[in-house]
Amino acid sequence: PIKIRKICCIGAGYVGGPTSAVIASKNPEIQVTVVDYNRERIEAWQTDNLPIYEPGLLDVVQAARDAKSKRTPNLFFSTDVDRCIAEADLILLSVNTPTKSLGRGAGHASELSFLESAVRKIGEVAESNKIIVEKSTVPCRAADTLRDVLSATAKPDLHFEILSNPEFLAEGTAIPNLLNPDRILIGSLKTPRGLQAAQALADVYGSWVDLDRIITINLYSSELAKLAANALLAQRISSVNALSAMCESVGADIDEVSYAIGLDKRIGSRMLKASVGFGGSCFRKDILSLAYIAESLHLFEVADYWRSIVEINEYQKDRFTRRIVRCLYNSLSGKTLAVWGFAYKKDTGDTRETAAISVVDNVLTEGANVRIYDPLVKETQIRQELKSTTSRLDCAEKQLVVCESAYEACTGADAVIILTEWDEFSNRGEVARRDSGHGKKTEERTGRKVDWARVAEVMRRPMFVFDGRNIVDAGALEELGFRVECIGKA
Ligand code: NAD
Repeated sequence: PIKIRKICCIGAGYVGGPTSAVIASKNPEIQVTVVDYNRERIEAWQTDNLPIYEPGLLDVVQAARDAKSKRTPNLFFSTDVDRCIAEADLILLSVNTPTKSLGRGAGHASELSFLESAVRKIGEVAESNKIIVEKSTVPCRAADTLRDVLSATAKPDLHFEILSNPEFLAEGTAIPNLLNPDRILIGSLKTPRGLQAAQALADVYGSWVDLDRIITINLYSSELAKLAANALLAQRISSVNALSAMCESVGADIDEVSYAIGLDKRIGSRMLKASVGFGGSCFRKDILSLAYIAESLHLFEVADYWRSIVEINEYQKDRFTRRIVRCLYNSLSGKTLAVWGFAYKKDTGDTRETAAISVVDNVLTEGANVRIYDPLVKETQIRQELKSTTSRLDCAEKQLVVCESAYEACTGADAVIILTEWDEFSNRGEVARRDSGHGKKTEERTGRKVDWARVAEVMRRPMFVFDGRNIVDAGALEELGFRVECIGKA
């Protein structure tokens, strides 16, 4: 059997950083080094001001990284990509695989150039056999591409075994997800060397994950399973969001419908929350990638089916803005809207593909003044995100203010628009406080809960609340004089 002593993780992002930190903390005898060309990111990983926020992440990083803890450090961050690749027995590829922006397949297919260049580098500098693990989400048969690049670039007497080991963590709960995964998927070729490599990787996880949760399957099944999982998760959200549109017309309540559906054990209750629409770097790109693969296999109906999930999501975001305009007497010109939350979901600072981008862009186009507050996301990031996506760049500068608190944002505002489900915004205080999940951590961190009576004092009349996450108790707010519009409620 192969015993792994040194791991190199290429890509120090949302996946590479937390995953490597957990692997290192659970395997003190393995040296884990995370490499990236992004010097700023690597330097931040070496401080206590980590480049990404995840509840519990800093503790795990510090435990494995810092000499001050009792054990010998075994987690390192470096920009010396060549040396770390050369030294490693096992390489985790955790680079980004965004949607292609140029040429054939632009806007649909996965961009594999970052993965390809990482693998070319491995081919160039490797002096020993390596196990190479696809942790990034990739199209089916990406392993063949990697193998082809290696066979043309590496020394001919070396052997590279490629495994697929997709990551299923969700941002905001990455650490609990990594510590207690539903399953670890390891895909390999069914050759003796493939199986031996899969076993070596399984042993790494085996130091903290029960063996019955470590599933070894065919390489290509594993690649496809990751795209399929994201497509099904997003499909649940789009299904519920489609139903929410019906609820608003027939006088039903989507939270009640979701609750009723979710009690069916075959369905289950999770990922059935209606909202302004899903965001994040993965769902959209992975579904588009899946649809593109289907199309390239001439399975056009299949491609249409998957794409409709993304279409419903766009529709939901648009529908939400249209409702805001309608309620505010068909004009946002000269009106002020407080936007609460910019991250794509709570407990993360990630704003990639956040629904807030579309909603803010839409209301700016309608002429509204927008005052944004997010407990975690910084002004520079918000402006950068909007700059690269809004259709009315020039106005955005003048019409947009980023605020330090929820109250500052709603001062003089005609409406509050909730776009991220931060606990701070909910008026269901007791419920959130009793919640023992990761929500509690956020409250401890921000230590704040909006006082809605105070919000009422500073807003213009009539005061509207558009709850894009269904986190407020509308009745209680109505008593304070707010007019509340929730998703999927008439
Ligand atoms: P990210 O953009 O946060 O991180 C990727 C990092 O890779 C960047 O820091 C980039 O500088 C670095 N990089 C790119 N090419 C490189 C190269 N050749 N050499 C060295 N460094 C290089 O991306 P992420 O969110 O961590 O996602 C990574 C992959 O994991 C993607 O395929 C994504 O689909 C998948 N994934 C993401 C999540 C998530 O929640 N973010 C969950 C599961 C899977």
